[in-house]
Amino acid sequence: MAAYRYDLHIHTNYSDGVASVREVVEKAAALRLETIAITDHFWPSLGSQRAKRGLIKNRRIEIDQLRSEYPGLRILDGAEVDIMPYGKLADVSGGYGQFDILIGSFHYTCDSSLWSSTLIKALREFNFDTLGHWDGYLTNYRKEDGRRAAQALAEANVAIELSARYPVSHTEFLELARDAGCKFVLGSDAHTLNEIGRLDDQIKMAEALNLPLVEY
Ligand SMILES: [Zn+2]
Ligand SMILES: [Zn+2]
Repeated sequence: MAAYRYDLHIHTNYSDGVASVREVVEKAAALRLETIAITDHFWPSLGSQRAKRGLIKNRRIEIDQLRSEYPGLRILDGAEVDIMPYGKLADVSGGYGQFDILIGSFHYTCDSSLWSSTLIKALREFNFDTLGHWDGYLTNYRKEDGRRAAQALAEANVAIELSARYPVSHTEFLELARDAGCKFVLGSDAHTLNEIGRLDDQIKMAEALNLPLVEY
């Protein structure tokens, strides 16, 4: 069994996580993870802190300091951005290009036809790296919507997150996405230290469904 020693979705107290960046990094190092992505929400995304000046910059200074203290751990400076209704990505002060990794996520409930059409519009606007907790807010699932979404994700080369926080209820979509050529990544969506790197169930699911997991 391949070892997947990464976690690409972690929140800190720069958004709605409880731990500091330093505590997250210490925990990841203790778990012997090789890559982590710190992916806070930044205003106006849900869970973000309102417009504190220099928030993103301050977090980056902390990350840079920790990179030099923990050279064996790759720390990605990331963000989780809302995919808004009508297919817009929420703006982030300073733009998307400043981040090493960008997760696009829905944070409002919608049915699968609205989900797929909104997602497709968002992918036309900007290719983020990962679709976060893809079915976390879905109220239903229809195969044809899944097929359209999978096709668009594969064409845009956007990976689908296997989230520890939002267990998948529609594995059928993952198989469709696999057949469409999508890649998959692991993200705990940790908001506390204990959740970091807890991805065994997601790795097992990927193996059971033969989903190509990205290695880091
Ligand atoms: Zn989220
Ligand atoms: Zn998150």
